[in-house]
Amino acid sequence: MRKDWDTYFMDIAHMVSTRSRCPRRHVGAVLVQGKKLLGTAYNGAPMGVPDCSEAGCMISEAVEIVRVDGVETMVKKQRCIRTIHAEQNLLLFTDRADREGSTVYVTDEPCWTCANMLANSGVVEIVYHRSYLKDTDKVHEMMGQKGIIFRQLQAYEPPRETVAYEIP
Ligand SMILES: [Zn+2]
Ligand SMILES: [Zn+2]
Repeated sequence: MRKDWDTYFMDIAHMVSTRSRCPRRHVGAVLVQGKKLLGTAYNGAPMGVPDCSEAGCMISEAVEIVRVDGVETMVKKQRCIRTIHAEQNLLLFTDRADREGSTVYVTDEPCWTCANMLANSGVVEIVYHRSYLKDTDKVHEMMGQKGIIFRQLQAYEPPRETVAYEIP
């Protein structure tokens, strides 16, 4: 069966994510303008700087409020801050003119900082696969305010050869 465009570009984003060397999270993002692929990016340390596979993750620990079934609880969370996020790398490596009116496919729902930057980047549509619950409420609200189409591919299944890289 022929792949639809959503599957086609999300598959590419997942393939791109396998380039990431952070063992905690592999994220891929692609820029699409009128069915044309204009850029790819994944999360990683700046070029020429040791990455997570060489220097280990750079862990930042913070207490966060997490809401589960409407109940707020305090949870201590660890995150790797060594990498530039895929969405930010995508913005660093594409031109503003190419982004105007474009769509970004990204394997994971953008965090608040990436969402904020994407909202100011010329992109008019963001399609993601896996949820990122920490920031989802404020990200959805802001995308609504900006009028950016923000949608999740729920029934989507990534290519089998990329699944081994997924971190639960
Ligand atoms: Zn890392
Ligand atoms: Zn991010």
